Amino acid sequence: MTERYDVVIIGGGPGGYVAAIRAAQLGLKTACIESRGSLGGTCLNIGCIPSKALLQSSEKFAEAGRDFAEHGIKVGEVSLDLGSMMSRKDRVVTTLTRGVEFLFRKNKVDWLKGKGRIAAPGRVVVAGADGGTQEIEAASIIIATGSESTPLPGIEIDEKRIVSSTGCLALDRVPGRLVVIGGGYIGLELGSVWQRLGAKVTVVEVLDHVVPNMDRELGTALQRVLARSGIEFKLGTKVAGVRQGPDELTVELEGAAGQSLTADVVLVAIGRRPYTEGLGLDAVGVALDEHGRVVVDDGFATNIPGIYGIGDVIRGPMLEHKAAEEGVALAERLAGQKTSVDYDAIPAVIYTWPEVASVGRTEEELKAAAISYRIGKFPFTANPRARTNGYTEGFVKILAESDTDRVLGVHIIGPDAGTLVAEATLAKEFGASAEDIARTCHAHPTLSEALKEAALAVDGRAIHI
Ligand SMILES: Cc1cc2nc3c(=O)[nH]c(=O)nc-3n(C[C@H](O)[C@H](O)[C@H](O)COP(=O)(O)OP(=O)(O)OC[C@H]3O[C@@H](n4cnc5c(N)ncnc54)[C@H](O)[C@@H]3O)c2cc1C
Repeated sequence: MTERYDVVIIGGGPGGYVAAIRAAQLGLKTACIESRGSLGGTCLNIGCIPSKALLQSSEKFAEAGRDFAEHGIKVGEVSLDLGSMMSRKDRVVTTLTRGVEFLFRKNKVDWLKGKGRIAAPGRVVVAGADGGTQEIEAASIIIATGSESTPLPGIEIDEKRIVSSTGCLALDRVPGRLVVIGGGYIGLELGSVWQRLGAKVTVVEVLDHVVPNMDRELGTALQRVLARSGIEFKLGTKVAGVRQGPDELTVELEGAAGQSLTADVVLVAIGRRPYTEGLGLDAVGVALDEHGRVVVDDGFATNIPGIYGIGDVIRGPMLEHKAAEEGVALAERLAGQKTSVDYDAIPAVIYTWPEVASVGRTEEELKAAAISYRIGKFPFTANPRARTNGYTEGFVKILAESDTDRVLGVHIIGPDAGTLVAEATLAKEFGASAEDIARTCHAHPTLSEALKEAALAVDGRAIHI
């Protein structure tokens, strides 16, 4: 007999698994189809989590060799056991993906293992790894199939010497020379990992600045710090191809910065594209846009009744928390609620050292929209906690609307910026003014005082600078 569900979700990443859990909490009979051997999608298996595990480990390695002496701590010779570092990363991933399996069991979500295809509205076929197929019925189908690395034409990824982020998270030795193609957050995070572990890293970026979606001032500041730490940048430079020799790779360049670079490993990190292969969208008539994204309306509905899309596969920033918020919102809508996502209050974080975090509009966006704003800035050099911790790099920048003082954007580069941005996101969510932040009592000594001081600076009355 064909099993009938209220909701069937294709894809068990942060969009899909969160939607599944929320739908089940709301009493909907729910199944989630995932073809990977574990739940959690790109984020838990080959994205956010393994990259942050390696960033944490490599930062500890760098600190031990670089910073401990300043604190009066003498360590012997610091050496690297890459195998153990990778095993730790794998353990973190396994613990978290098993955690999602546990949550599925707890909430009575059925995990259907295999590749899902929409046969018709209301009907999904699951092709298992063993060759068997199962057909199920669903009142609502959610496409949550995520994204994949965008390939660079003419450059073949072998995940050994020419790698995507996936291969770069699992190298079995530290490359002597790593060339990163693409100055976005994935390239800079993974470049940082291997630079800290001893690689000579060069980032090649076609634009004249890194992290193009961030406020330009932060991108410039980040590039300066990373360059000081030893990462080389070739901006305004296009990669024309990669030649493979027996001992090394030659990265051929076009543009201002020279002709070629030699490398042991090349990371292609030029972005990600929506993944809809084998889903049968053509046959069912689900509309895609010119970037291959599933087109949805404000309620995540596609043009075909009963079929929805969330996460990386639809428009908007390709971020875990954006996908998860959409999962919750859609599940609640399917249960009759009116939930929506506030796209103006989605933070973005780059987990380099220092971290970079931002929420809301950039200065460039405000200028382009002819919105009048005031800026408040405060450097971490003047923040006592940053001093005690010994990490004084960076600043907080708040952009507030001139007439109303409403917070339009908050941009932070500095220690623990990814945590600090939560307060700014809450401020955006509540429609706070800079004055609201400035009048809020912040514990001393904390890094968050820099946010308060930046809010005071919007009105020219910061105390500690
Ligand atoms: C290296 C790296 C680092 C990242 N770091 C961060 C970070 O720090 N913070 C952050 O917010 N974001 C980060 N991201 C982005 C984040 O991983 C994605 O935004 C997020 O995973 C998107 O969730 P999703 O559910 O839309 O899709 P995905 O996580 O891609 O999940 C989709 C799932 O669908 C499955 N699937 C696809 N087609 C089918 C099918 N036909 N049948 C069955 N299953 C199918 C896939 O196997 C996959 O598991 C990172 C990404 C990468 C690559």
